[in-house]
Amino acid sequence: MTPKQFIEKALEGGYEEGKNWKLISANGYWVTWLNGNDDETTIDFKCYLLDAKIWQAVGKVEGWEGKENCNNCGDPWEEACWCDRNDLHAVPRYKHHMHRMIDALCEGKSIEKFLETL
Ligand SMILES: [Zn+2]
Repeated sequence: MTPKQFIEKALEGGYEEGKNWKLISANGYWVTWLNGNDDETTIDFKCYLLDAKIWQAVGKVEGWEGKENCNNCGDPWEEACWCDRNDLHAVPRYKHHMHRMIDALCEGKSIEKFLETL
């Protein structure tokens, strides 16, 4: 998905930036809103990526709720995993994707490139 689609899905999933704020635009660097006073406000996109609540909201729209991934290989978790490292636990799917995002940034990948993998 694109950065704008990420924010739109978060809003659809119940994420709220500010009372009566309306999304104007979003790219991999900035999110621009019309705030409650009809002023344009621009916020660094990374602020949203570091908020677990936005990942949970996107997950509601993407159908991640109640689903988990293996904390070792990252595959979808179904009671156990083929990778045989079941001592490592499964993690909620939103958290799995949030971890993947941090890994992507550590590896120098762009936010846009990462979001395309969601
Ligand atoms: Zn696994």
